Amino acid sequence: MLGVPRGGTGRQILLVFSFMLAAAWGQMNFTGDQVLRVLAKDEEQLSLLRDLEGLKPQKVDFWRGPARPSLPVDMRIPFSELNDIKAYLESHGLAYSVMIKDIQVLLNEEREAMARLRRLERSTSSFSYSSYHTLEEIYSWIDNFVAENSNIVSKIHIGNSFENRSILVLKFSTGGSRRPAIWIDTGIHSREWITHATGIWIAKEIVIEFGKNGLLTNILKAMDIFIELVTNPDGFAFTHSMNRLWRKNKSSRPGIFCNGVDLNRNWKSGFGGNGSNSNPCSETYHGPSPQSEPEVASIVNFITKHGNFKVLISIHSYSQMLMYPYGHSMESVSNEKELHSLAQDAVKALYQVHGIQYIFGSISATLYVASGITVDWAYDNGIKYAFSFELRDTGRYGFLLPATQIVPTAQETWMAILTIMKHALHHPY
Ligand SMILES: [Zn+2]
Repeated sequence: MLGVPRGGTGRQILLVFSFMLAAAWGQMNFTGDQVLRVLAKDEEQLSLLRDLEGLKPQKVDFWRGPARPSLPVDMRIPFSELNDIKAYLESHGLAYSVMIKDIQVLLNEEREAMARLRRLERSTSSFSYSSYHTLEEIYSWIDNFVAENSNIVSKIHIGNSFENRSILVLKFSTGGSRRPAIWIDTGIHSREWITHATGIWIAKEIVIEFGKNGLLTNILKAMDIFIELVTNPDGFAFTHSMNRLWRKNKSSRPGIFCNGVDLNRNWKSGFGGNGSNSNPCSETYHGPSPQSEPEVASIVNFITKHGNFKVLISIHSYSQMLMYPYGHSMESVSNEKELHSLAQDAVKALYQVHGIQYIFGSISATLYVASGITVDWAYDNGIKYAFSFELRDTGRYGFLLPATQIVPTAQETWMAILTIMKHALHHPY
């Protein structure tokens, strides 16, 4: 602790304390790491930011990548690189602000909130929808949930992950065979914890509202709903055990130093194109070949074999956006007008719940060009209502959204999803 000036003792103790807390869990420590927000003025400044990935390999973790000048760029910088990176930004005239001053402080708060609610859950034998949960907790919730609602919900095992964990899908059905179907997946990027929590709340809500909410009841009389809550189980387990900010899956290959493939770059549609990376150490590494990852292949097999999916909704965080294909090119899809106006209606319905604003449009026009993504694959395989959400927030907490926001986020997202499902119900194809 050489070089820490007097008066810094409080911070020193805090640092030591948070380090001990983290060490006790065997977790990677992010003490002093910051999230910086850069508002690039033009394309030239954006490309200076893109250069950082090459200049500082595996040091700069983009939370919101360089996309277009109107969108902020958020990046997590390790404490040890802060001076260098800030100097780089300043020397190139890039204005930045500090969005998160010390990531570890937020991580500790998140851990403490989870521990607090876990004690409450154990003492009351209940499940708290306003808490984040581990993979084991979610899988045991699934078993109880299916057992208690077996008239409408069942559990399907669609495959195993790279590390051999079960990949599970909840099926909500009132009967019939191979009815027109709706797919929802959450957590394909493991650090986006708000998405799993939202999916769990929505699953519970479907059971509660069935028979009471006329619209949902009509949907379930004609269609089946499938929800994959933990689309990247290995990555998710790793976010709890080791690295809260892990995004990819956990696959490894002989002779390759870095682990993990970005499962939202591993789909066949536009595989390997712009907005994906061939470097295995990149956070957007697309993998050796399309569907090389079992987490993606099991969904492809399941949806293809079923053959009657009409809606696919893939849920991410963060940025507050609702988007439709394409991601891999600027080309418009044939029903762009319909998707655009449906997205507008869904975003309006979402806003009415808690006043949260979303932007919407095609992925390539709203966010950036991204290749090999879920919704492009869905669209190219005949699912014409294909949407991707980026849930709360816009960067105050980023991936570390406090658990107090789970229920409001789920409530508003549910209204948007209902709007999309209603449209599909009334526009059969
Ligand atoms: Zn994501």
